[in-house]
Amino acid sequence: MMFAQIVVDVPAGQTDRLFDYKVPESLQGAVSPGMRVVVPFGPRKLQGFIIRLTENTTVKKVRNIDELLDVTPVLTPELLDLGSWLSEETICYQITAYQSMIPAAMRAKAKKVLYLQEEIVHFPVFIQTLFGKRSSIEWNKVPMDKDLLSLIRKEVRDGRILLEYEVKDQARKQSYKTIQVTPKKSREELEGMAGNRAKKQLEALRWLLEHYPETPVPLKQVEAEGGFTRAVLQALVEKGCVVEKTIEQYRDPFKDKEFQKTVPLSLTNDQAEVLHPVREAVGTQTHETFLLRGVTGSGKTEVYLQAIQKVIEEGKEAIVLVPEISLTPQMVNRFKSRFGSQVAVLHSALSIGEKYDEWRKIQRKEVKVAVGARSAVFAPFEKLGLIIIDEEHEGSYKQEDHPRYHAKDVAIWRGRYHKCPVLLGSATPSLESFARAQKGVYRLLELNNRVNNFPMPEVELVDMREELKNGNRSVFSNILLEKLEDRLQKGEQVVLFLNRRGYSTFVMCRSCGFVTECPHCEISLTYHHVNKQLKCHYCGHEESMVNKCPSCDSEHIRFFGTGTQKVEEELTRLLPTARVIRMDVDTTSRKGAHEKLLTKFGSGQADILLGTQMIAKGLDFPNITLAGVLAADTLLNLPDFRAPERTFQLLTQVSGRAGRDKLKGEVVIQTYNPEHYSIVHAKEHDFLSFSRQEMTQRKVGGYPPYFFLALITVSHEDLSQVITTSEKIASHLRERLSIQTKVLGPTVSPIARLKDRYRYQCMIKYRNEPDLTKTLREIADHFQSEMAKDKLFISIDMNPHMFM
Ligand code: ADP
Ligand code: ZN
Ligand code: ZN
Repeated sequence: MMFAQIVVDVPAGQTDRLFDYKVPESLQGAVSPGMRVVVPFGPRKLQGFIIRLTENTTVKKVRNIDELLDVTPVLTPELLDLGSWLSEETICYQITAYQSMIPAAMRAKAKKVLYLQEEIVHFPVFIQTLFGKRSSIEWNKVPMDKDLLSLIRKEVRDGRILLEYEVKDQARKQSYKTIQVTPKKSREELEGMAGNRAKKQLEALRWLLEHYPETPVPLKQVEAEGGFTRAVLQALVEKGCVVEKTIEQYRDPFKDKEFQKTVPLSLTNDQAEVLHPVREAVGTQTHETFLLRGVTGSGKTEVYLQAIQKVIEEGKEAIVLVPEISLTPQMVNRFKSRFGSQVAVLHSALSIGEKYDEWRKIQRKEVKVAVGARSAVFAPFEKLGLIIIDEEHEGSYKQEDHPRYHAKDVAIWRGRYHKCPVLLGSATPSLESFARAQKGVYRLLELNNRVNNFPMPEVELVDMREELKNGNRSVFSNILLEKLEDRLQKGEQVVLFLNRRGYSTFVMCRSCGFVTECPHCEISLTYHHVNKQLKCHYCGHEESMVNKCPSCDSEHIRFFGTGTQKVEEELTRLLPTARVIRMDVDTTSRKGAHEKLLTKFGSGQADILLGTQMIAKGLDFPNITLAGVLAADTLLNLPDFRAPERTFQLLTQVSGRAGRDKLKGEVVIQTYNPEHYSIVHAKEHDFLSFSRQEMTQRKVGGYPPYFFLALITVSHEDLSQVITTSEKIASHLRERLSIQTKVLGPTVSPIARLKDRYRYQCMIKYRNEPDLTKTLREIADHFQSEMAKDKLFISIDMNPHMFM
């Protein structure tokens, strides 16, 4: 007897376990762990993943698996393990963890089709019978027969049958039909088969014999060139005079692009020094986490490329993670140019079908390298030799939805599994990683100079309070405007950066820079429009909105924020001759727009690139000699303990865009807080001093890396329910957890009401709490029935990066 332990597709507490099912005789030999199945569940039919096969069960009345959905496993044994770890660590349902590892195309209830890749006569009789005259057949028409299934499985593995998910994807055509004169038949035979009464068909056959006697031709081409109708050609197919074949095409988002092949650059001494231990770890199959801290322009990417080179030489595979936002064409090009078709690219700008195709290249071992955003960390490679995370400090590596995982943790888990190194790179590592590197948990590698020793750009801080005092109410300081004019005259290029995050949320005095802060937390207060109150999102402190600055009595105190569009208008008014490209969510929403704008800028068709976050990273244009930051403070005042760190990182990144070639670079940072340490140290390109000072702040505030955080958010349509539940949770936690652990709240969430639900949160700050995930899971389970019937939501984030 054979049984399968299955995780079913019902994300709920009661079903978050393995269920036993019997593998029917007909499927034995065809099933294996990691495949998806359909099983009866109560009165319903559900999808599920086979986690394991066993020979016995303790369940009395086992039901049969109804249907097998895959021919080859979609999850490797490693990913099955990883999913179970992920569900424990991040407190999510197992099914949620597994679903997040496969492409969206496979999650949907897509139609599946088998396509023959060779002529039917070359296949075993069983398969010939199944297909008959067809070249394709829907999967759900295939009888669930063990022998047939294992035959099909073998053919799929050998690439002679293709299994396709029919994704509704208007983006690209995915296959086309060809016809070919049936081989090994004489002209007379063929004409005989057509029959001499079918004039049109004979004509078509003769045309084919003359023009394409031996090769397949696209059906469309025959129609166009020969002028034959599809019906005529179809008749020839049916009579066996010609054979029809469907040619499968990957939806290749890069198919119209030429990649100039690049060869490894000869490394600088510094680069060679940091590359060496990484290559060694690859060669000796040793798991170790490296943190490469290299200033902007120090040639980190070349180090990545040559480390990957070694991985490929060793016959292994590599994953490169980059933040979605810096998954720019420029970045992708560097990998494609070096490794060509050995690279699969996974990012959200691809259509569902394109993503699925890229994923399949990995699954079929047709590529060696996967470059992608966060979820590419699940790329189903089985011989991993290296995982790289570029810009490792980026918040986008943390998923804000279930499963709430951090790509770094997943990467390190996989690195351990495969005994391979993990390379984290950044000009401004997160304090968590840097602290680990200093403690020797990670190995620190450093590149302190730019390639060719190009100097770091000169940074000038402009105090916007002074500008206002001198009567300048524009978003541009006089100095920045002067420098803009200068660059226009010289024909050099500029990037202008405006942060749109934190728009209108905090209150600042434009005369003195005063920002309303919580007296207990040193976190800026958030303005709530509804009741005109200022609130702290950490401890719940509340005060009313002020009309006058408490510090200088000025009346110019208001919430802060300006949009890119407004800035563009002002820019064209002040500098009418400047050619400006604006890049923000509005101008880049259309597919390919991002790339088009950058190409335009790169080829010198614009003077100024104005944009949000998306222009801060990864751009490498030699002609940029000035970078401007219009308002450095917007991030600084977000209600988030990482605000200074994010500010420092962002300013450093923006500065890194200027002076990357022979031309000297300059940076202008406009701010209302020129004394703030994150801004002062960014000006000096001084990561070490910044991190030292920020570490002190973290220690005092009880934040990472000194403490771990967990955030519990409770929401419900009924406010009193939210309050009672979150109070119950908080007091339960206070009872259960050690005294060293701090439980803050409950307090109203920064977004106090979302989609008609009130939201409250509790924050846990802890250092050593081995049973925390267990305790939190118990809490979630305890409220399970209320959650199910009463629309109560409890979300638990074990490593929060957003506090809204
Ligand atoms: P980072 O990723 O650290 O910001 P990059 O990898 O973008 O730096 O390198 C900056 C520039 O220096 C790029 O234009 C790159 O092609 C060039 N570069 C990197 N390494 C070398 C090298 N060894 N020799 C010559 N040029 C290099
Ligand atoms: Zn003031
Ligand atoms: Zn507070």
